[in-house]
Amino acid sequence: MRTIALMNQKGGVGKTTTSVNLAAGLARMGHRVCVIDLDPQGHSSMHLGIEAAKQKATVYDVFSGQAKLVDARRMAAANLWVVPADLDLAAAEMELVDAKNREFVLKRAIREMVAVDPFDYILFDCPPSLGVLTINALTAADEVIIPLQPHFFALQGLSKLLQTTQLISHRLNPQLEVSGVVLCLYESGTRLAADVTDDMTEFLKKAPANAPWAGAKIFDARIRRNIKLAEAPSFGQSIFAYAPSCPGGKDYEALAGEVHALKLTNATADSETTDE
Ligand code: ADP
Ligand code: MG
Repeated sequence: MRTIALMNQKGGVGKTTTSVNLAAGLARMGHRVCVIDLDPQGHSSMHLGIEAAKQKATVYDVFSGQAKLVDARRMAAANLWVVPADLDLAAAEMELVDAKNREFVLKRAIREMVAVDPFDYILFDCPPSLGVLTINALTAADEVIIPLQPHFFALQGLSKLLQTTQLISHRLNPQLEVSGVVLCLYESGTRLAADVTDDMTEFLKKAPANAPWAGAKIFDARIRRNIKLAEAPSFGQSIFAYAPSCPGGKDYEALAGEVHALKLTNATADSETTDE
């Protein structure tokens, strides 16, 4: 099982679009995938056609100890589940402030769920803040993928995010590893996008060996700006259900393949470096 947090403290960078479509891409490849919506805006739930309904459990009920993840998960498509969120979740931030072991609620809930219903991938769609919900995601995850839009201040933002992963890895989750940066809303052919990408590549190469982002890369799959990706949520469909052959579908298909191959590539690289 791989647990991946899609994290960026900024809003509007493509976290939700990437959580949903990466998850759907992996599900299409035959993996069992669960998206956990950690944003009180509930966008990834809605994007997958699941409304948080009052009579059904949401991720808030899991945080408040009133439900188990396995009972809150809902099927969105073949191989694809989502644990929905709604505005109630905003209260969890406050309610958890004084709770003991508040950073580990999600980690424990996942351990319980996969004991009875195993998944190949669990993806956390994080809110645009570094509150207790994001910290829960970073504590429960083995991996972080950072969606970001290549603009002038992107490198500055990236280095802050990486410091955050460092902090979490020291205090709460030594396993945490940043697997990569996915460039979203990419304007191919522009000088700015290319320059920013080069700067980030150089920056990642200089990672200290023990940093959580050592070995992190910019994914080759760039998610181009594509109107179909912006339209799909209003139909409650992933890009693969809505418009699979559009550029957005192709880009997320490529990303899913690349993310899935990642660990395998690392494992091979490790075994091949024994005589270095
Ligand atoms: P976040 O979750 O980081 O706030 P979203 O994934 O919700 O970001 O994206 C912000 C907005 O941009 C949404 O309206 C989404 O539909 C749109 N969007 C995201 N990625 C693309 C893209 N590659 N092309 C066009 N629109 C996109
Ligand atoms: Mg979002």
